[in-house]
Amino acid sequence: MNLILLGPPGAGKGTQAKRLEEKFNIIQLSTGDMLRAAIASGSDVGLKAKSIIDSGGLVSDDVMVQMISERVDQEDCKNGFILDGFPRTVAQAEALDIMLAEKGLKIDHVIELKVDENILFDRIRSRIAETPEAERRSDDTEETLRTRLAVFREQTAPIIPYYADLGALKSVDGMASITEVSDQIDTIVAA
Ligand code: AMP
Repeated sequence: MNLILLGPPGAGKGTQAKRLEEKFNIIQLSTGDMLRAAIASGSDVGLKAKSIIDSGGLVSDDVMVQMISERVDQEDCKNGFILDGFPRTVAQAEALDIMLAEKGLKIDHVIELKVDENILFDRIRSRIAETPEAERRSDDTEETLRTRLAVFREQTAPIIPYYADLGALKSVDGMASITEVSDQIDTIVAA
């Protein structure tokens, strides 16, 4: 089973991806985590991505599509995967469709976590404030958060009608409790 989780930063995609990973023995593919690992390893991609991530912008579609394409080919993805943070533009979504078709794969469910942006902003702002500085992501600042939410609105949100038009989109209430969100997702996945 292959899934896409869609939603703005802080919507709870990572929490749900980790839970689904355990429950279905499929792999969470977080492009944010992959980029942070690339930065930590000092690779070329990492060096180029660092300033983009720190500003809250998006790494180029070509780099991201290539990264996911190579990752999906690895043995641990054979049972399925959960895309968390990818696709983030309509161009990435289109490239993903083509790339998966070439590999004989498909996405089974595209699940949108719907959230109220104002409540979300306050939620993440307090999470940033509560996290000791040494443990904070370098892009976890109030200013970058504003940019990341704007980038989501402008560049990522158009993916939602893209998948809706394909008849692939299912939405859950991302403002509900973790247990309720989990139940809603499990119902979709079981259908
Ligand atoms: P995340 O951990 O998903 O919030 O991602 C952190 C940052 O990594 C984002 O703000 C972007 O700069 C970059 N990033 C992650 N995934 C993508 C993607 N699919 N396309 C472009 N940039 C991405």
